[in-house]
Amino acid sequence: MIERTLSIVKPDGVARNVIGEVVRRFEAAGLKVVALKMIRLDRAMAEGFYHVHRERPFFPSLVAFMCSGPIVPMVLEGEDAIARVRRIMGATDPAKADPGTIRKDLASSIEKNIVHGSDGPATAGFEIGYFFDALEIPPR
Ligand code: GDP
Repeated sequence: MIERTLSIVKPDGVARNVIGEVVRRFEAAGLKVVALKMIRLDRAMAEGFYHVHRERPFFPSLVAFMCSGPIVPMVLEGEDAIARVRRIMGATDPAKADPGTIRKDLASSIEKNIVHGSDGPATAGFEIGYFFDALEIPPR
């Protein structure tokens, strides 16, 4: 099924000049970038985005990290896009990620792991709407 999903180049990825490398890997896999922007999150926006993690011990650190510099959210479209983006990203902890994944190749820690990808259809819908309004996304 053709799906849309949200990915983000996180502040560490922007700082390390790998925006293009992340997008290249998605495009090389046949995924289409249908929306993309660079923004900076404030604390409330980062807390809202990661609200499912609000009780986790790493939440304050994660929120501070996501506000530490600009991020590049994007909407990717393609066959089975949600699961494919997750495979291209690799496991949350780069030490456990498969060879050839973005996180294995580029990430420095379980927190500063370069890239985000929605983990399911409901999450993708919420996350796309969090960063993009209807006028910024082409109709399907
Ligand atoms: P993801 O779907 O692979 O991004 O992983 P999660 O949804 O479980 O976690 C969201 C984000 O929180 C991760 O991408 C990391 O940036 C961060 N994170 C997850 N687990 C940890 C942890 O154990 N410690 C810290 N410091 N950050 C974490």
